[in-house]
Amino acid sequence: MERKQFELGDIVQMKKPHPCGSNEMEIIRMGMDIRIKCVGCKHSVLVPRAKFEKNMKKVLRSVNDASEPASTTE
Ligand SMILES: [Zn+2]
Repeated sequence: MERKQFELGDIVQMKKPHPCGSNEMEIIRMGMDIRIKCVGCKHSVLVPRAKFEKNMKKVLRSVNDASEPASTTE
């Protein structure tokens, strides 16, 4: 299985959207557990790393990813 890469400050998309309707989460703390903050309602949750990796779909925006010209228009 492919290992997901994510860093502090990244905006990630979860498999299940937050009850508020947003599925964008910002990684605000990394450690044994990962704290993510919902971009939509600013609610933060602490999830074990294994669970986070399982539930994370993809990294939407990486803080220090300048290599990829992701010129997406939203
Ligand atoms: Zn939310």
